[in-house]
Formats: sequence, C-alpha cells, structure tokens
Amino acid sequence: MKHSACPNCRKTDLEDFFTIPNAPTQSLVTIKNRVEALAIPRKDIVLTFCNSCGFIFNSEFDTTIDYYTQGYEDQQGFSPTFVKFISGVAQRFIDRYGIRNKQVVEIGCGKGDFVRLMSKLGNNTGIGIDPAYVPGRGEEVPNVTFIKEFYSSDHGDIEADCITCRHTMEHIHDTIGIMETVRESCRDKQPVLLFEVPSIVRILDVQAFWDIFYEHCSYFSPGSFARLFRQSGFEVLDMYLEYDNQYLFIEARPVATPSEKIHPLEESVEELKAKTKHFVEQINIQLGGWRERLLRFKAEGKKVVVWGGGSKSVGFLTHFADLDAIEHVCDINPHMQGNFIPGIGKQYVGPAFLETYHPDVVIVMNSVYLDEIRNDLAGRGLHPEMLGL
Ligand SMILES: [Zn+2]
Repeated sequence: MKHSACPNCRKTDLEDFFTIPNAPTQSLVTIKNRVEALAIPRKDIVLTFCNSCGFIFNSEFDTTIDYYTQGYEDQQGFSPTFVKFISGVAQRFIDRYGIRNKQVVEIGCGKGDFVRLMSKLGNNTGIGIDPAYVPGRGEEVPNVTFIKEFYSSDHGDIEADCITCRHTMEHIHDTIGIMETVRESCRDKQPVLLFEVPSIVRILDVQAFWDIFYEHCSYFSPGSFARLFRQSGFEVLDMYLEYDNQYLFIEARPVATPSEKIHPLEESVEELKAKTKHFVEQINIQLGGWRERLLRFKAEGKKVVVWGGGSKSVGFLTHFADLDAIEHVCDINPHMQGNFIPGIGKQYVGPAFLETYHPDVVIVMNSVYLDEIRNDLAGRGLHPEMLGL
C-alpha cells in the first residue's frame, strides 16, 4: 500500500526519488535454515521525499508485517569499540542533565544494554520497553525492569525523569504519532529526552546504500528530526552527530510552545533535497564500482568475506547476491553465529571460522570497526586485504 501522506508532518507534497526493488523485508529476524532464509518475502523500498518537512521515508512500507516478535538480533555490545562509544554518550548525558537517582524509561530498549548502562552510571532506576526484549541476555542490574511490549499510550502512566530511545524511530512508520504519544505521556512533567537515529545525510553524501534496508522505513536528517520534535511539542536542546557522522542524537524537553530556534546542525528542506539529487546522480556509479570490484575478486579466485552481520550486510549483499562472489558473513555476536541471513541464505560464521578459511579480502560493514577487526584478525595470524564501508 502506498502511503500518500508524510508520516512526519501529515502533508502530501511528496516525491519518490530512489527505489530498491525486491528487498528482503526482514534482516534481523533469526532463522535457522537456508530455505526459510531465502523464503523471506521481498518488497520494494521506495524512498520518498517530503517537500514540506524534508522527511525521507519508504512510501511502500508494509506496516502489517511482524518484524520484532519472532526472534530479532541486533545487540551491538559485543564490540569494545561500541561499548566505549556508548558509555561515553551515556556519561556525558548524565552529567549534562544531572540524571542521578532518577527514573529512566527507554522506548525500544532491545536487549536492554543502554537502560542498564544509564542505571549503573547514574544510580537510576530503569524501565525498558521492547517487544524484542529477551530476559537473561545481559547482566542483572538491580532497579532495572523490562516490559516486553510495543510502546503505546498504555505506558503513559509510567513516571519518567528521562526518556531515551535509540535506533527505534527509524523502524517506526507513524513518526508523528509516536512522538505525540510520548508528548502526552509527559503531561505537565519535564523529562529530558535523548533520541538517536541513523543520519540520512551521511547516507546521501557517501551513497551508503548498505544503510538502506526494509526494516528502516524512516530516514531522519537533523532538520527533519528537529522539525518533528518541535511539531509534537518539544524544545530541541541540542543535536550532534557521532560515530563517523552515522548516528544523529537529539536532546529535547516537552514545552507548552516550542520556540522557533534553529539548531546549527539543521539543514533546510531545500538543502536536503539537493542532497537527494546528488545521491541519485552518484548511486549507480557507487553500485557499479562495487560490482566491478567483487567480480574482479571472483575472477582472481579470491576468498571474500563480509564482516558485520545484521541489516548493513543484508543492505549490502542484496545488491550483489547474483554475483556469488562472497561466501561467508562473519559476526562477533555469538547469538548470530549459525543463523542464516534473511533473503541472502548464507550462514553467519564466527571469527574463529576464518582461521581455517583464510580469507583474502574482508569487507567491513562499518569502517568504525576497521582497527578492532584488523587487530582481531592479526591475532589469529590473518592479514587479508581490508575494505571498510
Ligand atoms: Zn513531511
């Protein structure tokens, strides 16, 4: 079903600009055999630009699919690089707003790593809400409890001094709807919000096609994210980009009337639209370059592996599945190893497997991890050519 109104501002002046046909509809669901993995339904991703608010979204997104309750693997905490980064983010936020001995609520908490971290670092009580929460997948932290449900107005009575929401908004189609629900739950209280999403600006600037996949229906820029917050009754306190400009953070508070102050990071609707044009001009060159590189590796008989499972690997491999140039995808999350990749059909392997496989080329799905992975491989006596996205 084609969505005819912008989920961010509800206006209808929309323009499609990029299509990925037949993308697997799920990339993080856990699947135990190849046949089932290949049988994942496929649908088009149609990136659409809202000329009113600059929001980019998949206007063909199917809201009826059950994405999160049948096993969903997205834990990032197995990487020391990531743990160091996220601990820094949490500590800065706690110090900035004095979030100590308070109650922290996390919407879309996944396996609960961040709400536990907020609790530990600030001696806070924590409540994590997520349908994909799995008990026993993190250390027990006193004063942290979990609700295995989708966030809704039913949770409006939960008192919160701080509301966090990381890497969840990009999975939600009705973005203004959920922000209005959050705003309503604040009532006359003034919790501070910390929300984090991938930034579409970097995706457009470097044609990061691997960051476009079906489960991400919503693509925010600093401008469209800030406009959404203001429209739903929040004052934007700050915004910043982290992790090689991949992640966009916003800090906000509910107010009666948001000011019209524009954060320096916000781009205009016109500026973002120009970036979509540049993306469209460049994307086929980018895809063609990778195709050529992979075909060359294949012709040279090189063993190529992808390092980094999950959505990015599905987003990447979707474009090259026909080449049969990549045999394995490696991930350090032990809960992924042995699973089959939705839509791609290959089985995840752990790093130990590479000791016997001896890859010639390792394509790293996030160049932030290049050093960490190079060191890991060197420790196994492996020195393959490394390419980072
Ligand atoms: Zn809009």
